Amino acid sequence: MHYPNLINSKLPNVGTTIFTVMSKLAADNNAINLSQGFPDFSCNEELVALVNKYMKAGNNQYAPMAGIIGLREMLAQKTEELYGAKYDPESEITITAGGTQAIYTAISAIIREDDEVIIFEPAYDCYQPAIEMNGGKTIYMQLQAPDYTIDWEKVKRVINHHTKMIIINTPHNPTGSVMSVADMIMLEKIIKGTDIVIISDEVYEHIIFDKQQHQSVARFPILAERSFIISSFGKTYHTTGWKMGYCLAPKNLMTEFRKVHQFLVFSCNTPIQYALMEFLKEKNHYLELGNFYQQKRDYFINLIKGSKFGFIPAAGTYFQLLNYKKLSSEKDTDFAIRLTKEFGLAAIPISVFYHEQEDNHVLRFCFAKKEETLEKAAEILNKI
Ligand code: GLN
Repeated sequence: MHYPNLINSKLPNVGTTIFTVMSKLAADNNAINLSQGFPDFSCNEELVALVNKYMKAGNNQYAPMAGIIGLREMLAQKTEELYGAKYDPESEITITAGGTQAIYTAISAIIREDDEVIIFEPAYDCYQPAIEMNGGKTIYMQLQAPDYTIDWEKVKRVINHHTKMIIINTPHNPTGSVMSVADMIMLEKIIKGTDIVIISDEVYEHIIFDKQQHQSVARFPILAERSFIISSFGKTYHTTGWKMGYCLAPKNLMTEFRKVHQFLVFSCNTPIQYALMEFLKEKNHYLELGNFYQQKRDYFINLIKGSKFGFIPAAGTYFQLLNYKKLSSEKDTDFAIRLTKEFGLAAIPISVFYHEQEDNHVLRFCFAKKEETLEKAAEILNKI
């Protein structure tokens, strides 16, 4: 076919996401896939039965634009119980087609040409393209290795009258670090007197370890009044393929969010919303998730503690970073490809989460896997 020159790419530097690339490479090489983050075990049978029940009962047409009210009410109740914050189900909660859509929608609703948005690197890969698509300018701050904390003094220094948004993410993908109360208090101080809006990506809110408490911005009224909180049913209920999430925000922000949401997706999967509404009644499904994944983290790191890989146990998420400094000085992208092709184990190189491809020789491994999968992966890591 002939390709006439019709477009000037709006995202000239964006290729295919690393998750798609590595999952494909894993499949092509028949490798164990600890790259893209998703469980290799099934979700709760009851939840599947509920979806089935609501489908059979005829709930198969459009849901209301913001989501079915019963689900929004359950989420309001959960948020108040966990974080002490009241969100009006009618005007301050919207069901989305996953976290990524919610993040795109919030950025799109707020960011205009030349607005500056601060993100922290290594940064999850959907933030920057969404900012760029909306004409914004990404301001990159670095999390400080090895524990990937934020240097708030540096953040303070880059804030100016163009700064429109700060995106935070706790528990943090890809590093597994979590933000503390002290971080939140620093953030409060920094945004005081500004019109900065916050996106708080909290999709791993229930996957936090070692008795730590998740610091949702919902716990901090001064932050909550200017924040979009993003969460995900996929992470919480082992259903990443259902692409269901939600957004919480004060009414004035949510009004703008919905203006975009209704023309981007309009509304989300109806029977799944009914099923989630009912499933949310059993609180242990999310209250026990931290313990469930802590066992997997510990199982995995115990198996590889004698290997040549170095690590600090993840504080949250289902990702464990491993550094291979003792093994090789190869670029992390090369090492990740070699690990997949030669050794049959796929992981995500961390340099792809930096705009300047900073390479600390670290890979991210997803431990949301059956014990046998983790054992096979560990066997490979131990022999390298
Ligand atoms: N959130 C998943 C991860 O970090 C990836 C989701 C995706 O592939 N877009 O692995």
